[in-house]
Amino acid sequence: MLNKTVAIAIDGPAGAGKSTIAKALAARLDYIYVDTGALYRSIGLAFMRKGFDRQLSCDVAKELSDVKVDIRFINGVQHVFLGDEDVSEAIRTPEASMMASAVSAKPEVRQYLLEMQRDFARKYNCIMDGRDIGTVVLPTAQVKIFLTASDEERAMRRYKELREKGDTATYEEVLSDMRQRDYNDSHRAIAPLKPAEDAIIADTTGKGLEESVLMLMSIIKEKTE
Ligand code: C5P
Repeated sequence: MLNKTVAIAIDGPAGAGKSTIAKALAARLDYIYVDTGALYRSIGLAFMRKGFDRQLSCDVAKELSDVKVDIRFINGVQHVFLGDEDVSEAIRTPEASMMASAVSAKPEVRQYLLEMQRDFARKYNCIMDGRDIGTVVLPTAQVKIFLTASDEERAMRRYKELREKGDTATYEEVLSDMRQRDYNDSHRAIAPLKPAEDAIIADTTGKGLEESVLMLMSIIKEKTE
């Protein structure tokens, strides 16, 4: 089948600026933006609500059978749903972040989300961000970018975001959680966080949003024109 849509895969560790930059790029290119982390977060939230902790001492496949995750675009903005509930806000807590990392190491969870993610890329020109988009989900994406920044800068960005939302986590806690999550994500057996062989590495340390967007825009232009 002819590949008629364009897919841009952006992978990288937490706080590298993936979602902010990808949203801005999607608006400029008129592509849809798919935040795959939100899917893992929603499943993490569902398991939290079922009363499990990060050890996930349960039959994951069985517990997953009544979890229904869905992405809907409302006025062009991605919302994630657990059943009929819009959980787009509820998934943005430090606990949900850590639980997302725990469930994401489970093959059953990754398998459950794989087709949903590929389906978006089949239907729409899209910018998809995550950890394994260029390596596993969309290995034939026309553009693959691995976005990174120093640990300290990534933690500071996350810390400021959480503060703005009234979360009281300290900078040290955010840095330590983030390092733990990066470690888990890059050392898990299945679909670990790593750059695809043909990914372009882009470092946003010391760069503001506009500068980062322009940097990626020029990579995308070069690859798609
Ligand atoms: O991107 P975000 O920080 O929202 O992702 C939350 C967690 O979901 C990550 O730490 C990672 O464990 C998991 N994830 C993943 N694969 C993706 C996207 C997110 O494993 N494609």
